[in-house]
Amino acid sequence: SLTLGIVGLPNVGKSTLFNALTKNDVLAANYPFATIEPNVGVVGVPDERLNALAKIFDSQKIVPAAVSFVDIAGLVRGASTGQGRGNAFLANIREASAICQVIRAFSDPNVVHVDGKVSPADDMETINTELILADLQTLEKAIPRLEKEARMKKDRVPVLEAAKAASAVLDGGTTLYAAGVDVEPLRELSLLTVKPFLYVFNVDEDELGNASFLDELRALVAPAEAVFLDAKIESELIDLPEDEARELLESVGQDEPGLNQLIRVGFRTLGLQTYLTAGPKEARAWTIPIGATAPEAAGVIHSDFQRGFIKAEVVSFEDLTAAGSMQEARSRGRVRMEGKDYVMQDGDVVEFRFNV
Ligand code: GDP
Repeated sequence: SLTLGIVGLPNVGKSTLFNALTKNDVLAANYPFATIEPNVGVVGVPDERLNALAKIFDSQKIVPAAVSFVDIAGLVRGASTGQGRGNAFLANIREASAICQVIRAFSDPNVVHVDGKVSPADDMETINTELILADLQTLEKAIPRLEKEARMKKDRVPVLEAAKAASAVLDGGTTLYAAGVDVEPLRELSLLTVKPFLYVFNVDEDELGNASFLDELRALVAPAEAVFLDAKIESELIDLPEDEARELLESVGQDEPGLNQLIRVGFRTLGLQTYLTAGPKEARAWTIPIGATAPEAAGVIHSDFQRGFIKAEVVSFEDLTAAGSMQEARSRGRVRMEGKDYVMQDGDVVEFRFNV
């Protein structure tokens, strides 16, 4: 499955965040593999729509979509040259589908900063530099080989050209993701900075409502997405009963846990979206790549559904809830029959028709 790798300098709150994420887990029953590895957590994607569907269909249970996080410890300055656990660290990142970079913006003088001062811009640059250097090394090794191959085989030329162009971008200090480089020809090289990035700023609780402060941080990482939270508050929220958790959130001016936001943004950064199914047994969110067609979506439930696909009966979540029932949505003409070329939209509520 697709995984977000959590990276960041030591002492920025990665473990605090990861522990909160995995404790938050409502998926243990549905995803027994959730706790197989100590540094991997499978977490449910919070989705209020499932509760509404479960009400309409009187569903026995709710099954949210899932996304995995892996806590990749060990990034220090010099990781790209094998310092610390440098190589293991880089291998771990290579396996992640997207990179979730945690950056310290909280001030607590009791928590030592590895570089002696709290500077989100410097920290981001330190980490990005290590990833960029690692990619430059990979390219340095690959380019002479690609040059040889390109002389023998014309179809290797685009890969060589892409590798050279990537090298120039990285030399300029920009990640390939931020530069918007076409990743397709580079895929075989397993570069790190082609992966989608998202940034989590671990801020003091009294800054959570400070829009201008947050905007400054957001500008540092744009066009990548930024999530703001206080990891310490998040880890407290996890242990509180619902009403007390809500009070604590209100006291810091938030209407939902930062973790929820992180999970949703993470899901989106991975290029994923969900469609919904509902019945008396369960209300469920299914994960598909953005742009998936109806038969591809059906295939996520079962390969037979894709093979025997006839059509999809689709109603948008909004139309269904406005109607209050499937029957009423039908009589209002809001339920559509879609064929094999239909591109799924986020929040489609679907029933597939197929041949067995
Ligand atoms: P990691 O090395 O990045 O995994 O960082 P940890 O999660 O182990 O956190 C390092 C230290 O910072 C611990 O003592 C945490 O309790 C503390 N810490 C983490 N997040 C916050 C935060 O949001 N605010 C404050 N004040 N301390 C935090």
